[in-house]
Formats: sequence, structure tokens, C-alpha cells
Amino acid sequence: MEKHILGFPRIGAHRELKKALEAYWRGVSSTSELLSVSQDLKERHWRIQHEAGLSYVSTGDFSFYDHVLDTTAMLGAIPERFDVGGSSTPSDLSTYFRMARGDASRNIPPMEMTKWFNTNYHYIVPEITASQQFTLSSTTLIDDTRRAIACGYVPKPVLVGPITYLALAKGVDGYDCWQSLDAVIGVYKEIVTQLDPLCRWIQIDEPVLCADMSPVAREAFSQAYDVLNASVNSAGLLLTTYFDALDDNLDIAFASGCAGVHVDLTRGGANLDAYIEKLPSSMALSIGLIDGRNVWKTDYEKVLTKVNGSLDALPAERVLVGSSCSLLHSPVDLASETKLDEELKSWLAFAVQKCQEVSDVENLLSERSGTGRTEGVAILDRNTSAINSRRLSRRVHNPLVQERVSAIDEKMFCRQQPYEVRKDTQAWLDLPQYPTTTIGSFPQTSEIRAKRSAFKKGILTEENYEGFIKKEIQRVVKEQEALGLDILVHGEPERNDMVEYFGQQMDGFCFTSSGWVQSYGSRCVKPPIIYGDISRPNPMTVKWITYAASLTHKHMKGMLTGPVTILCWSFVRDDMERADVCRQLALAIRDEVKDLEDAKVKILQIDEAAFSEGMPIKQKDREKYLAWAVDCFRLSTSCVDDSTQIHSHMCYSEFNDIIGSIAAMDADVISIEASRSKMELLDAFKSFDYPNEIGPGIYDIHSPRVPTKEEMVQLLEDATAYIPKERLWVNPDCGLKTRDWPECIASLRNMVAAAHEMRKCG
Ligand code: GLN
Ligand code: ZN
Repeated sequence: MEKHILGFPRIGAHRELKKALEAYWRGVSSTSELLSVSQDLKERHWRIQHEAGLSYVSTGDFSFYDHVLDTTAMLGAIPERFDVGGSSTPSDLSTYFRMARGDASRNIPPMEMTKWFNTNYHYIVPEITASQQFTLSSTTLIDDTRRAIACGYVPKPVLVGPITYLALAKGVDGYDCWQSLDAVIGVYKEIVTQLDPLCRWIQIDEPVLCADMSPVAREAFSQAYDVLNASVNSAGLLLTTYFDALDDNLDIAFASGCAGVHVDLTRGGANLDAYIEKLPSSMALSIGLIDGRNVWKTDYEKVLTKVNGSLDALPAERVLVGSSCSLLHSPVDLASETKLDEELKSWLAFAVQKCQEVSDVENLLSERSGTGRTEGVAILDRNTSAINSRRLSRRVHNPLVQERVSAIDEKMFCRQQPYEVRKDTQAWLDLPQYPTTTIGSFPQTSEIRAKRSAFKKGILTEENYEGFIKKEIQRVVKEQEALGLDILVHGEPERNDMVEYFGQQMDGFCFTSSGWVQSYGSRCVKPPIIYGDISRPNPMTVKWITYAASLTHKHMKGMLTGPVTILCWSFVRDDMERADVCRQLALAIRDEVKDLEDAKVKILQIDEAAFSEGMPIKQKDREKYLAWAVDCFRLSTSCVDDSTQIHSHMCYSEFNDIIGSIAAMDADVISIEASRSKMELLDAFKSFDYPNEIGPGIYDIHSPRVPTKEEMVQLLEDATAYIPKERLWVNPDCGLKTRDWPECIASLRNMVAAAHEMRKCG
């Protein structure tokens, strides 16, 4: 059998690409330096795949920013505003980065960016106009493929498929992108023709086959693939699908006429037998057995059981063993983790290790069928002992947590009275109309970051660090009092990150030092790893929030991150349902909520910034997710007395599909991102008759611009068209941690003035 991965992370084990990009953008390194870093990374990653014994090395998986943007560059589809002087070519780096990042000096906004299916990776959304021409405009993929051959490797080029590309594109001024199908196919035909003599397989990614496809997209499929398949002779197209099962789109994939199809066997309950049964005899099957989106060592025995005798029905030449998807979504190399203890490390596998796993699994499978080598016993033994060590570890299983979860009862999900009654119980807060507040964080200055880093390095004592944080809190409280805000916050200076801060104080979490995963461009995240049952041994925030409260007579709002957001922004254990892990998190947050309330913090905000990120790709799975996600939020907040006011915050502005769930969360107040949508997003709340209070953000914190009082008054007036003024709050779009102080003060002063103006008018 052949073996391969669908792509390797491009960022580098030590984030070399990030550093090279940022130096280049700052103007302190040259184009040739950047190119040389990229060349090193590509070759290093090929070597890793080759040394793991994979049949192919991937080319075209590297990107300076994003592989969808690379496809746009390949197609020559530069939106006009980036074509400075009319002579820009998409393959010139400055044009490429202008598309990704905009050009502040010329006031050119970047292309839009959004999440790649249900991952935390963000791609640059293609923009297509009616007049857009498409011409093959980049030779990078061909060059890289040739280069891999010159290095002595067998390349397998990777492309984003035309149907996925067009399905993700947005038409400008109502243009229907599918009208450009023929033109786009024309360019793909050219690239495929050029790749044909260079390789055995051309991998064409069509993850859209694992999503709910529109009828046009389904129809376009055979049109595109008839042309592409007719363009290859010696090479075969490997149609790759991932992130879910094929379900309704199986027929399209299997009738595509491609020489091979890749299926993800780690997600969506896909069934190998059903695939094999339907597979045309002309097609090879690539089976994605190694999860490309987690950090866990693969349980070989389990994989062998899953595959069992199924493969007997196919000759080995028609089978490829692979990763489920590109390894882009997992950290690079476990070997960089020098601080994790050996036991934990023995449970994990990052991209480098996953390449080896693909190879191992193929060995084991061919050995079973009598064609492989005989080192399998040793490989399997080593794997089984690591898997067992995790399965049986006392660090993973905490009976007290499990008992608590099984004792959860219905009452724990409900506040005592419905909102309409609670509203009166909360009248003691004595809030004015249009109450003003913020989302929680205040500027994380370079001084704060320097102090935290000194404290972590042991240069600053705990006492000194805490003294410093207290001073920051004093400043935040004083500034808010001076601004005349109604509900104050402590500013979150003690938090590095809204998930890591909590994870570090809970049992069941561990942290890597280099487990970076690309989020977009040069931006990476280092998600915590949830490996065991979760509990909260001690209060996490009470000390800081009560300190802040002691400094003022005004109401102090306590800030927590919600269970769904912590889940979505972590690597989650794979030996338990996500919903169950989330329940454990909810109980831990519930403990904190209770402790805060006992400490007289009577306004609490539980942020669910990532609530919609956990949403499954397919409509049919969403209801179930939303049900447990809402339950978990309720579980974490419903322990308070009705006189305590629960807030939540969500930083996005697309509520049409989930408004019922937002209402079901039953927060007394939610704040949302809204300023850029001119309040039109509130339409969803109006049509649903959303019953509780809302603070639609009226100050866009993503921009350094200071909004005027007048424009914020206008936004509030707009908002009253959708939400009765008795239920409107006044706040920014999100936290202020990325802004600087002078901007914040100026903007918040105008915001408070806008609220006063509204009150005057009644
Ligand atoms: N309370 C957090 C803050 O203000 C919320 C951050 C977020 O929504 N992403 O920073
Ligand atoms: Zn936010």
C-alpha cells in the first residue's frame, strides 16, 4: 500500500516562518532572506516525510500566508484595488501580502478572512467580479514539484480544488461566482497538464464534499472533473475529502472519474465498508486513519480493528494509507517539548510523529495481509503500552469529577425564575437607562507583558508581580470612575489569554512550550491540552475581582471564560465525548461563579467568544451541538441567586442561525459585536423576539479609530428600531486589550457621552 499525508504544517517547529514574515513586513529583512527561509522549511518538511518512509512528499502545502490565497494568486484573480499601477502580478510578494494584509499607506483594506470549515485556521476569501479574468499566474507549484524531484523525492502536488474554491469565494456586487466556473477550470486544466508528467498523484482537495453542498456546486462537480481528468495521462487525480463523512455527496465523489478518492475515517462516523462497497473498480481509495487535527498518539490496535478485514476486498495497489486531513492543524514536533514530563509526552503525537504513525499503520496493515515486513510486533507493543498508560492513568481519571458529572440534575440548568421576574429582583442594582459597561479587558501594555514575562522567568517575585497587578487594577478602576461608566471591570491585567489563564489553574490541563498551530498568516495559537478529568481545586479569579471591588462604590463585574469557549480553544481528549468534557468544564466554572457570588460579586460575565466555533460543518449535526453547548453555559451560570445578574459576551455578528440557542442560554445581558454591521444584525433578535437584555457593541475595537459621540448616538438610535430601549446596554464590541490607553479613554468618553445623550432624549 502507498502512504502519505495530506500536507505538513508550514510554520516551522520554531515558528521560523512567522519570524521571517514579520521581519520582512517590518522591512528588516530582504525578499531573498524570506525566500531562503521558505526553501529551508519546504526541504526540511520533505525530508521528514521521506525519512518516515512515506511514499510521497507533499508539494504546494507550503504558503507564505494562506493556501486559498495562493490559489487566488495561481488563478491570477487579483481584485482591482490591489493592482497598484496596473502592473502587479499575483506572484509578486508585495501584491500577495497587500491582498492578505491591506495597504494602510494607500488606505486599501485587505481581503476578508474567515474560518476554514470548522477549524481555527482562517483563509483569505476570494473576491470575484463579473469582469475578473483568470490566467495561470504562478509557477510556484510546478517549481516546488521540480525542486522536490531534484532533491531526490517523489512529489505529490496539492491543490485546493476548483469547486471548493468557488464555493468559498464571494461574488462582488451580487456576482454569482459559478459563472466563472469555465474560466477557473481552464486554469486548473493548464496546471494539471503541466504537473502530469512530474508525478504519480495530483492531490485535489475538495473538503466541500464533506459539507452541505448547494445544488449548483454539486452540478459543477462533474463539469469540472470531466475536464481535469481528461487532462492527465500518466498522473492520476486524487480527490481528497476531509473533516467529515461524505454522506450525501458520496455519489458525486465516486462518480468524479478521478483515479483515487481520499476519505476521512476519523470524523463523522464514516464507514469504511460502505465506502469500499460503492467504490468504482477504476478508483484507488486513500484512507485517512491518522487524525490530522489532534495531538494524541494513534491507538494502532483500534485502527486495525476499525479497518479489520475490510481492506481484503481491495488489492493493495488500490489502497493509500494517510492522515485524515492536512497536518496543518496539529503542532509540528513533539521533540521540541522539553518541559512536558515523559509520561504525558508518551501519549502525544504532533505532525512529525504523525508521519511516522502513517507509516507504522501501513506496515501493520500490510503485515496482517501477509505482504509486509515483520517488525510489526515491536511497533504494536510500544504503541499499546503508551495507549494503556494513558487509558489507565490516575492523572486522567478522577472519580470525584465523574461522580459529580453523573449527579448533574435538571434543576442545575435553571435559574430560579424566568428573566421577566429576575429583572425585578435585580432592580436593586439601580441602573440608569442605557447602562454603560465594557467587555472586560483594558490595554495589555508592553509593561504588563514585560512584568509577566519577568515573573515567569523568576526575575520578579510573586509579591512584586502581584503588587504590580494591583496597581494596574487601581488604574483601571480609577479611569473607569473618571469616565463615569456604570458597571466597572478589573481590566484582566493578570491574564495572558482568556483560556490559558483558566486552564493553568484547573486539573486535567497541560501546556506545551512550542505546540503552535497557524491561525492565520503569521499568527499562531498554542492551545492548551485537556488530557484528563477537569476540576478547579482553588478559586481562580476571586482574589483579583474582590480587590477591584474594594476600590470603588460602583458595581464591579466579575469576568470568566465560559466552558464552550475553553473547549473550543483547546486540544480536547479523544477518549471521551466533547459534550462530556464540556460538562466537566461547566462544573468547574460553576464553582468559580458560586465563589464569586459568595464574595458579593453580584454581576458576572461568562464569555462565550467561541460559542459558534464549535458548530459542526453539517446542518444535521448542529442541533445536537447547540443543545449541549447551551446546557453547559446554563450549568455554569444557573447556580446564582436571581438577584445576581449574569452577562455573557460573544464576539461575532452572525446570529441568524443560532438566535434560538442564544435566547436559550438565558443570560440576563449579552454583549455582541455589532458596530460594523450598522445594527442590522439585531434584526435576528427582533424577529425572534429575543426576550433579555442586549449590548450591541457601538465602538469597533478592531480599529485604532476613535468613534465620535454622534456616530455612536446614531448606532444606538438604530438599535432602538430593533430592541426596546429598556433592554439596551451601551458597550464596545469586544475587550480593549489590543488597544492603547489614549484611544480607549477618548473612545469610552464619547461612548458614555452617547449614552447620556440617549437618556436625555428619553
Ligand atoms: N473578556 C474578554 C476581554 O475583554 C473577552 C475577549 C473576547 O471576547 N475575545 O478581553
Ligand atoms: Zn469579544
